[in-house]
Amino acid sequence: MILIDGKKIAAELREELKKEVLSLQKKYNKIPGLTVILIGNMAPSQIYVRMKEKAANEIGLKSEVIRYPDSVEEKIVLDKIDELNKDDSVSGILVQLPLPNHIDKQKVIEAILPKKDVDGFHPMNVGNLSSGYESSVPCTPLGCYLLIKKIEPNLSGKKAVVVGRSNLNGKPMTQLLLKENCTVTMTHSKTKDLKAECLKGDIIVAAVGMPELVKGDWVKKDAIVIDVGINKTEKGIVGDVSFDEVSKVAKALTPVPGGVGPMTIACLLKNTIECFKRSN
Ligand code: NAP
Repeated sequence: MILIDGKKIAAELREELKKEVLSLQKKYNKIPGLTVILIGNMAPSQIYVRMKEKAANEIGLKSEVIRYPDSVEEKIVLDKIDELNKDDSVSGILVQLPLPNHIDKQKVIEAILPKKDVDGFHPMNVGNLSSGYESSVPCTPLGCYLLIKKIEPNLSGKKAVVVGRSNLNGKPMTQLLLKENCTVTMTHSKTKDLKAECLKGDIIVAAVGMPELVKGDWVKKDAIVIDVGINKTEKGIVGDVSFDEVSKVAKALTPVPGGVGPMTIACLLKNTIECFKRSN
């Protein structure tokens, strides 16, 4: 079984991106910039933003974090986004989710110019992705896609099963696999006989948020299995896939942690550079 080492693959990607930043700097005499807006002081968001800032700095991007208290008015955030949209030194804008209840998430997402939307959440990018046009792609599914391609460069005709249909993970994942000519089954909480659906997959991507949902006897021999889940349990952090069981049947499997997680941040950097290139 191939253990898909997301940490190593993400480090290689960051190294490539670092070189690309240098060559873009030479070509355009400026560097791509990522601005993150962080509202409130929820611990996980603080940690994610710190990791994103550190990763951006390490590859030579210009990075900035704008912090607001929980009580910030929606208008102040929207005005700041408007200012960043007009600022040529800002290539990508990310508003760290979740937001306090009094701020309309969709309004905030739609305020970001699609060409600066490094998260790929703007309806224009969602539509472009589903139409097969160039777009920003949400970072986690993009990371999963790159991991799958490392194992199997030609996905044409493969059967893929995506477990979970969130806008963040399942839906964009399905679009990326469709673009590669996979036959994709998208499953969710109302799917009847999830085990039978999973057993059809040459590729399974699980993005659910349920500890070890996908069992060993749900997986076809030699399938590629990507585990997006991050679940806190008594035995520590586990994914949506039963690692011990599935590692005995799968051809390749991502560990949790150390699989998809590191790719998510590397793909944010990749998206920032793509936004810069599209704007120049
Ligand atoms: P989400 O928005 O809560 O969506 C979960 C999806 O799973 C929904 O579509 C839901 O179906 C489906 N689902 C729930 N129970 C199910 C069941 N028993 N069988 C089949 N499908 C079921 O979650 P998310 O934001 O996509 O995140 C999923 C997981 O990925 C979480 O553990 C999260 O922490 C993790 N995550 C990891 C990363 C990373 O970088 N590694 C990034 C983001 C998220 P319905 O639509 O029918 O409700």
